[in-house]
Amino acid sequence: MAVLAPATSIPRPFEQASAIKPAEVHDPPPRPAAAPLTRETIASPVDKIRWRHSRALGLPWRGRLVAGVRVPAAGARFFTWDPVQRRSPNRAWRRVGSDRLVRTLMRVLDEFAAAHPRAPRIGIGDLSRPGGGDFGVRYGLPGHASHQNGLDADLYYPRLDRWERPPRAVAQIDRTLAQDLVDRFVRAGARYVFVGPSTGLTGPPAVVQPLAHHDNHLHVRLR
Ligand SMILES: [Zn+2]
Repeated sequence: MAVLAPATSIPRPFEQASAIKPAEVHDPPPRPAAAPLTRETIASPVDKIRWRHSRALGLPWRGRLVAGVRVPAAGARFFTWDPVQRRSPNRAWRRVGSDRLVRTLMRVLDEFAAAHPRAPRIGIGDLSRPGGGDFGVRYGLPGHASHQNGLDADLYYPRLDRWERPPRAVAQIDRTLAQDLVDRFVRAGARYVFVGPSTGLTGPPAVVQPLAHHDNHLHVRLR
């Protein structure tokens, strides 16, 4: 009776190639290639979103979120960034927003990427917690006064060196791309876009407002 080798002893393609005689060496079997960016793979992060009808209750700084929608860990147009642990992806419980916010983010980032095919993916930071409510320092420094009812999101400015990390200085920001991102959120009907005072980013004064501690990210708030 044949004894099946345990799966772990099956040689991997490259080990197999080196274990056989040179005369028998063929090109290694093709490795599973990274999925090409087709329409399907671009759409897949959105497909992975579990859409439901959310309710943003109360105020951004004193509110709750019912039936929030989670932003995927990453997509073709964005990565997520954990501002406390300083790594990607952001933890799942920090990236929940209202369906309207998540839809707006996905649409704006899709349009941004289509307009700038060579731009880096945009970093999405914190939205709200599942259920919303307090998102202060007890959830990690620096904490948020708002981000309580699924209408707020932080997005890191794209860097000139295209590295997928928050910029550490305003000189690292790709100002042209960052301004275009701000403009797109204004056009998408954001109530506020808070930008860092040193970034030089501008917009209609009723909407685009300088705010301390926003020199590496913008904060978009929907109505
Ligand atoms: Zn924020």
